[in-house]
Amino acid sequence: MEYRVETFSPSETKEFAREMAQKAKPSDVITLIGDLGVGKTVFTQGIAEGLGIKEPVSSPTFTIVQVYDEGRMPFYHFDVYRIGGVEEMDEVGYEDYFYGDGLTMIEWANLIEEILPKKRTEVTIEKNLEKGFDYRLITVKTIE
Ligand code: ADP
Ligand code: MG
Repeated sequence: MEYRVETFSPSETKEFAREMAQKAKPSDVITLIGDLGVGKTVFTQGIAEGLGIKEPVSSPTFTIVQVYDEGRMPFYHFDVYRIGGVEEMDEVGYEDYFYGDGLTMIEWANLIEEILPKKRTEVTIEKNLEKGFDYRLITVKTIE
């Protein structure tokens, strides 16, 4: 299944992510794809808010995964932008997160394609400057 949503401000993107998080179930995995500055962190903040996490969320620049425990289920935020190889995922014990009791979100998931769960939701965010500086096209694809 695949559907598209257009947003015209950061708050609309956040709101959309918040709604997605409200429907999330333990062991769900969302992959997030998009260029720098497109709104991946904004989207992630919406996901965190939707789970009831009050703590500010940023990109885990120096660790592969950041864990937030205060929401209605754990939130595992991976950013694999700087990963050297999938063996680094083994080192953090990624399976405990992917198939665990929380919601996993992975930025730059294309870099670890071979270990992604078969069942996942792929979110792609794109700009289109012809439609304005704050326009974003969000494509949600269910893969199973
Ligand atoms: P990334 O994490 O993908 O590198 P960020 O989320 O850090 O990107 O930054 C996205 C930037 O784009 C923010 O400055 C945000 O305010 C801006 N922005 C403008 N319009 C939107 C929109 N519709 N959705 C999300 N972010 C937007
Ligand atoms: Mg970011």
